[in-house]
Amino acid sequence: MPKPLNQDIIDLTPDRLLTFQRSVSGIDGLVSLTLGEPGFATPDVIKNATIASIQSNRSHYGDSQGEPALRQAVLDYMKDRYDLVYPSIDNVIVTVGVTEAMQSIFKTFLAPGDGLLIPDPAYGSYFSALSVAGGVAVPINTSKNAYKLTPALVEETLAQAEVPVKAILFNYPNNPTGVTYDKAELEELAACFKKLDLWVISDEIYSELTYGRDHYSMGNILPDQTVVVNGLSKSHAMTGYRLGFILGPQAIIKEMQKVHGPLVFAVPTFIQDGATAALKIPKEDLTFMVEAYQENRDYAKNFLEDLGFDLVTPEGAFYLFARLPEDMGNDGWDFAEKLAHEGKVSVIPGSAFSFFEEANPFLRFSYAADMAQLKEGLNRVAAYVAKVRAD
Ligand code: PLP
Repeated sequence: MPKPLNQDIIDLTPDRLLTFQRSVSGIDGLVSLTLGEPGFATPDVIKNATIASIQSNRSHYGDSQGEPALRQAVLDYMKDRYDLVYPSIDNVIVTVGVTEAMQSIFKTFLAPGDGLLIPDPAYGSYFSALSVAGGVAVPINTSKNAYKLTPALVEETLAQAEVPVKAILFNYPNNPTGVTYDKAELEELAACFKKLDLWVISDEIYSELTYGRDHYSMGNILPDQTVVVNGLSKSHAMTGYRLGFILGPQAIIKEMQKVHGPLVFAVPTFIQDGATAALKIPKEDLTFMVEAYQENRDYAKNFLEDLGFDLVTPEGAFYLFARLPEDMGNDGWDFAEKLAHEGKVSVIPGSAFSFFEEANPFLRFSYAADMAQLKEGLNRVAAYVAKVRAD
């Protein structure tokens, strides 16, 4: 039999995660608190603009860097929301979500075998996406510092890296911890990145979802060395539209377009038209979602703390990274699997987000679902914990 498969690809998803996903996926009546899937429908304005675009036959090949009207809307939006100013639409690439943006970025910055610093824990898909691009993760253990990245942690990790490192993938508000940064902290980190000559890939997909604080973009603080990545999946409840964007210095965007163009040719034009309408929605018309997530966060945090879980209060995104109660053991995989089978609620083991053993006793709960589903899921967690305690 011929051997057409690339072993590197076969090895990508860690066995334990695959086994866990398979074991949990067929369970009847499961309530899921796993995905970062907004508990809202896409706003009507966006749906109507997308439908109108299809009906007016906007169904031909588009500009592979993104429709000019959308790139202009991205510039206007970033200026309005974060006072982030770029000179022209040539500073923007429209992507198939942040997911595809990462491939274009990794391929632009990293030669095979190059390292990428990743504050850990991190969005799990980064790790496999990076392997697909031929890069090597150089994780920074932030669990030592309540999940906050510091210049000292960056320098310490870099000094021990066994591969050449060109860039850092910095995500805030963070998935899975919800940790974010104020302006002074970002300035301190930016000074460190500058000193170390690191490109910064700043994944700010949760920038609109902060609770009681403003978001500052790294693009403002270190413009010459940063590519900002953002998108509409979370802020506008548009995960299925697959729409993201990259902003950065024109010279680097020009190089990146050489990767992005052949990879996607163009994001569907009618999706781009829907996105253009989305970016024009006033901030006030979307705050109802942020308010609901904050309510969910407060409810879930108190609920889990009452059960004995230990967690850092998330200030953004829609996840809780919680340590198992002392009497529930130290194995997040085992707990999550039994919770799914016996308690009928699914969460993700902390180790799926980390290279370090400190994550083993953790679980990630998503509170993006609507309140009714969240309450049902948490009640099931409580019932399962009570059962284990009674046994
Ligand atoms: N980046 C982070 C940190 C995420 O948590 C997610 C999704 O959960 C993504 C990127 C994926 O974004 P997109 O839907 O734009 O591909």
